[in-house]
Amino acid sequence: MCDSVVVAPSFLERMISHAQSTFPLECCGVLGGKKSVVTSVYPLTNDLASPTQYFANPKEMFQAARKMREKSENMIGIYHSHPHGPSTPSLTDQEKNYYPGLFYFIISLAEAEPVVRCFVMSEQGIFSPIPIV
Ligand SMILES: [Zn+2]
Repeated sequence: MCDSVVVAPSFLERMISHAQSTFPLECCGVLGGKKSVVTSVYPLTNDLASPTQYFANPKEMFQAARKMREKSENMIGIYHSHPHGPSTPSLTDQEKNYYPGLFYFIISLAEAEPVVRCFVMSEQGIFSPIPIV
């Protein structure tokens, strides 16, 4: 597994502005890239329209997957926001999501400034923080 993930500032800003635009509801999206370098951000609709949960719209997810194929990208990560919570995986994240090997970005809007952190999930389902560079 990689020990860091490479994300251009413009992509971080894209995730943050998506999170701000759906506030106070959670936003979600997927990230295309190669190995540990993010090369595209695909914002998706949260079909649950909830402040505490998300479920990516399947049709948009399919379209994003097709765009990634066209650009020879892989889906290397997912992101969602915590409008009122910390930038760490919630209990719901631990229980409901099982994405070992993917970069798992969380945008918190609970502080004065938006905070983005990244985690990876082990095969055992344990989240570990990973630096964004
Ligand atoms: Zn969450």
